[in-house]
Amino acid sequence: MKVLVINCGSSSLKYQLIDSESEIALASGLCERIGIDGKLIHKPTGGEKKTFDVQMDNHEVAIKLVLDALTDKEHGVITSLDEIGAVGHRVVHGGEKFASSTVITEEVLKAIEECNELAPLHNPANLIGINACKRLMKDVPMVAVFDTAFHQTMPEKAYLYGLPYEYYEKYKIRRYGFHGTSHSYVSERAYEMTGLDKNNSKVIVCHLGNGASVTAVKNGESIDTSMGLTPLEGLIMGTRSGDIDPAIIEFIAKKENLNLSEVLNVLNKKSGMLGLSGTTSDFRDILAASKEGNKRAIIAWETFAYHVTKYIGAYTAAMNGVDAICFTAGLGENNGAMRALICSYLGYLGVELDEELNSRYGEDLVVSTSNSKVKICMIPTNEELKIARETVALV
Ligand code: ADP
Repeated sequence: MKVLVINCGSSSLKYQLIDSESEIALASGLCERIGIDGKLIHKPTGGEKKTFDVQMDNHEVAIKLVLDALTDKEHGVITSLDEIGAVGHRVVHGGEKFASSTVITEEVLKAIEECNELAPLHNPANLIGINACKRLMKDVPMVAVFDTAFHQTMPEKAYLYGLPYEYYEKYKIRRYGFHGTSHSYVSERAYEMTGLDKNNSKVIVCHLGNGASVTAVKNGESIDTSMGLTPLEGLIMGTRSGDIDPAIIEFIAKKENLNLSEVLNVLNKKSGMLGLSGTTSDFRDILAASKEGNKRAIIAWETFAYHVTKYIGAYTAAMNGVDAICFTAGLGENNGAMRALICSYLGYLGVELDEELNSRYGEDLVVSTSNSKVKICMIPTNEELKIARETVALV
């Protein structure tokens, strides 16, 4: 079956058409600046990347352009839309309602809408994408795959905050966690690569990209994760602060004369690597600047690694041990220096990196030595493939 995977943001839309038998992406692409002007970048696998500047007033126009590109005589990869057997949609927040992926029905749409206030930047955009696809592909089954679903196995002691319990009861304030599709895909790959028995395994997955999170996966289930009610908690990220003392919020507000949402904007968009370095949120640029001796870049790089290491320590304790630690996403799967720096703290666990293997990137590889007591894996994440698999399984 050919599955169209859609990841809809507020002004952008990423897509892949995946052949589920071969698990190969036939084409992928991106619509940007939806509602502003519009740009479509379409890449048939093995073919040349095409860029089109086209007006996209809304997401429906964008999806129509994607469907045209997929069926185009020159750069298309299918002859008719009838070849698309199903559509898989990434949905960021499924609240407590969705512990797994689900076929999209009217009730499911309503339930996703009810989660809007938990992810006001993401869920409404995801819904717009789903509704646009429904109008353009009336009889094609659609599936929602949630970033939060994998973490619904967390026990209460991991997801409750130390707040008045009635806030959890009334408002569902709790840890949800994100990047679940990636953490689930990577942990599954780790069992295959290392021969670990899923039902008797302790794995820590470090998803280190512009957004970053760490998850403890015990016997195949997420038992704790670093992101919380929103993706702001946990690790220091590209522009997000991650964990801070909550009292800092009022302190900044008073000192800088800002209101609450302005402070949250600082924590979401002006902090993290960008805030620490003062120049960039991009890890490649941070690394380049730190090699040139830029002190702020050096401290940003080191602080990031230190925080990842602390989560690894915490999750090793939570699971009473760890069999494998996996690195994924932009930084985690591509950068040996960051993996080496993090692992340099882990001698107490008997971690030993193989320098030659760790200098490689972008492939599924165990990068620890055969003597290492914990397997260190680098695993390029593939959220789209995971979404396609879930979609096929459900339809
Ligand atoms: P997201 O999906 O959250 O936007 P990605 O997983 O694509 O993010 O990760 C993007 C980050 O990964 C960027 O900061 C980028 O600089 C970093 N990155 C990608 N390749 C490398 C590399 N070889 N070395 C260091 N950082 C890298």
